[in-house]
Amino acid sequence: RDRLLEVKDLHVSFDTYAGEVKAVRGVDFHVDKGETLAIVGESGCGKSVTAQSIMKLIPMPPGRIKKGSIIFDGKDLVKFTDKQMESVRGREISMIFQDPMTSLNPTMKIGKQIMEGLIKHQNMTKKEAKERAIEMIKLVGIPNPAKRVEQYPHEFSGGMRQRAMIAIALACNPKLLIADEPTTALDVTIQAQILDLMKELQNRLNTSIIMITHDLGVVANIAHRIVVMYAGKIIESGTSDDIFFNPQHPYTWGLLQSVPRLDAANKEKLVPILGQPPDLFKPPVGCPFAARCDYAMPVCKEYYPEKTQISEKHHVHCWLQHEMAPKVKNPIVEGR
Ligand code: SF4
Ligand code: MG
Repeated sequence: RDRLLEVKDLHVSFDTYAGEVKAVRGVDFHVDKGETLAIVGESGCGKSVTAQSIMKLIPMPPGRIKKGSIIFDGKDLVKFTDKQMESVRGREISMIFQDPMTSLNPTMKIGKQIMEGLIKHQNMTKKEAKERAIEMIKLVGIPNPAKRVEQYPHEFSGGMRQRAMIAIALACNPKLLIADEPTTALDVTIQAQILDLMKELQNRLNTSIIMITHDLGVVANIAHRIVVMYAGKIIESGTSDDIFFNPQHPYTWGLLQSVPRLDAANKEKLVPILGQPPDLFKPPVGCPFAARCDYAMPVCKEYYPEKTQISEKHHVHCWLQHEMAPKVKNPIVEGR
């Protein structure tokens, strides 16, 4: 597979009256063409900030990319000017959010909203853009497309609005779609339909997708690879199978035990992860999960665990991988 995006050693901070919040602290990951990468973690772990950095949509100031590079299609977006970014956003990289109502324009017909990007980025005539808008509405599975393009967002249900958002995002045929909690506001049945739609469209259009979510359950069937973030760092990454069937980090174990899976055949008891993530004004020097980890050892609080490779694509940052560490029972692999 060809590499589309490579994020290297990304550091993002927010300057506040109380001090510097180190929201993203040295993140590395990549996305290949036609691949879906999920970025998973609790709220405040830096996953949305990472996504916004790729679009250069973090408010600057107070936000700033302190360090690192974001190589997209061979070029470093960190070095791009606002003007250069304008030609990337919506055309090469599109984004969809949790609540389509906040990103849809309530006073503009859905068709017009799809046409805007086409006229701006693709130099289409109004007539061509309208035809394409109808085609896109049909593509995302909204019935009566010719009638629907003439309607306003409030005439759409929640699920249909999210479909319309996807139609807008994909109209210009972007290379990368970033979806930040795209199904969180929807009920479970509609959630599954939207995820199926995204998977189907990806197969058809070969778009790369970054799916941001707090809920590992939603990515099981759609992500090729998963990175798990905690307190501004990636603590484990691997293929979907690695993360679901052979996870190695205690935080990943906690995530898997605390979320229901959409396709759950097993009605296991859900166990919440107790405690709070650390303060990112003064992040811990050791493992950021130490204060909440049932397996924490003295070394964990003092030294940051370097990366251990488990298999080809599977990496983890945890002292339990050290040869001198006690062997603990993996609750996902061996059962609780
Ligand atoms: Fe727990 Fe230590 Fe591993 Fe961190 S490094 S997850 S504290 S065992
Ligand atoms: Mg978020």
